[in-house]
Amino acid sequence: MDFDVVIVGAGAGGASSAYFLSKNGAKVAVIEKKPLPRYKVCAGGVPGVTMKYFPFSFDKVIEDHINLASFCFNEETITHTVAPRYLNMVMRDEFDYHILKNSSVEVIDKTFVEQISIYRSYVLVKVKGGNLLKCKYVIGADGAASIVKKSLGFFKNKNMGLALEAEISAKDKILEKYRSKFLVSFGVAKKGYFWIFPKRSHLSVGIGNMENGIRMRKTLIDLLKKMDIFNDKTNIYAHPLPIYTRHSKLHGKRVFLVGDAANLVDPLTGEGIRHAILSGKIAADCILNSKEHLYSKRIIKQIGKDLLWAKRLSHFFYNHQQFCYNYFVKNKFVFNDLMKIINNKFSYKKMLLKVPFYFLLNASLR
Ligand SMILES: Cc1cc2nc3c(=O)[nH]c(=O)nc-3n(C[C@H](O)[C@H](O)[C@H](O)COP(=O)(O)OP(=O)(O)OC[C@H]3O[C@@H](n4cnc5c(N)ncnc54)[C@H](O)[C@@H]3O)c2cc1C
Repeated sequence: MDFDVVIVGAGAGGASSAYFLSKNGAKVAVIEKKPLPRYKVCAGGVPGVTMKYFPFSFDKVIEDHINLASFCFNEETITHTVAPRYLNMVMRDEFDYHILKNSSVEVIDKTFVEQISIYRSYVLVKVKGGNLLKCKYVIGADGAASIVKKSLGFFKNKNMGLALEAEISAKDKILEKYRSKFLVSFGVAKKGYFWIFPKRSHLSVGIGNMENGIRMRKTLIDLLKKMDIFNDKTNIYAHPLPIYTRHSKLHGKRVFLVGDAANLVDPLTGEGIRHAILSGKIAADCILNSKEHLYSKRIIKQIGKDLLWAKRLSHFFYNHQQFCYNYFVKNKFVFNDLMKIINNKFSYKKMLLKVPFYFLLNASLR
C-alpha cells in the first residue's frame, strides 16, 4: 500500500482532512492539479469559529478583520456592527496552503487525478500520465466539478449556482473606505447579491447567484463602472457554487466526498469554507475511528439538516428581496443571529422560529 489515504484536491476541505489525518498518524498524500499555493476564486470571508478547529494561529494569513457590515438595496444602506473576530478576510491561496503546511503529508501538486477504481481491500488512484497510487481510502476534496464524484456515480447536482469575481486594486481612498467593512447589495441579482470584501491592498468584488445566473458579467461590470473601480484590464473569473439542495449519500466503500464536492454550499449566503473544513474533519474522524459507514449521516446531522432550512429561507428571501431587506436585513437582531449561525452558535431553523420575535424586538427599539 502506498498510502493510508489519498486526498484529491488541496483546497480548504482537502487541507483540513490532511491535517486531522496526519496529526493522528495516518500516511497521507494530497494530489492537487494546480501548482501550490493556488489561486481560488473566492471572496475569502472566513468565520472565526472555522479557525478554532485548528490548534495553530491564522494571524499571518488574515488580511483584515470585519467590524462593520453594510447592506444596500437601491439607494438605501444600513450598517451593522460585527462582533470582534466573527468574520475574517483571507486570500484562499495562502489560507488553504497554511493548513496544508501544518500537516505532515506528501503533497503532489501539478498532478491531475483522472480516475478512481475501488477494489475490495484497496483503491487505485490514476493520475494523468498513467501513474497509479494504491491506498486504503480516497477523499474527494476536488471541488465543484469533482472527478471523484463523477467517476463513482454519486448524486449529480443540477442546481449549481454561479459566482463571478474580480480582485481589484483600488485607490488608497477607496481601500480606506472599505477597511474592516464589507458591503453587500441586494436587488442586483435574481437569486443572489453583489459584494465588496476588503483585503490588505485590494478589494475582492463579485456577484453570485444561487441559481445559474444570466447577464451577471454585464451587471458586475456596470456596478464596478458606477463605483469607478473598473478598467479594461480587470480579470473577471467565474466559478460554480454547488448549493446544498437535498440530502444524498456522500460516501461509498473506501471513498468520501467533502466540501464543494459534497455540495455543501449554503443556499442563502453562498458560504462554503466552514463546511468544507468541518466535512474534511469529519471524514478524517470517520476513517481514524473505523466509522466510515456513519460519514453521510454525520454530515447530514451536523451540516445538511440546517442547510435545508437555509434553502427554504433562501427561496423566500430572493423572491421577496425588497420586503426582506426592509424587515430582516435592516433588523440588527436578525443580522446578529446570522453572524452567530456562521459561527456555529445558532441555526437557520431557530432563526425561522424566531421571526415573530424579530419584529417585536425591532419595535421595542422605536
Ligand atoms: C466567487 C466565490 C466567492 C466565494 N466566497 C466565499 C466566502 O467568502 N466565504 C465562504 O465560506 N465561501 C465562499 N465561497 C465558496 C467557497 O469558495 C467554497 O465552498 C470552498 O472553496 C470549498 O472548498 P473545497 O476545498 O471543497 O473546494 P476548492 O476550494 O474548490 O478546492 C478543490 C481543489 O481541488 C483541485 N482539483 C479539482 N479537480 C482535481 C483533479 N481532478 N485532480 C487534482 N486536483 C483537483 C482544485 O484545483 C482545487 O484546488 C465562494 C465561492 C465563489 C465561487
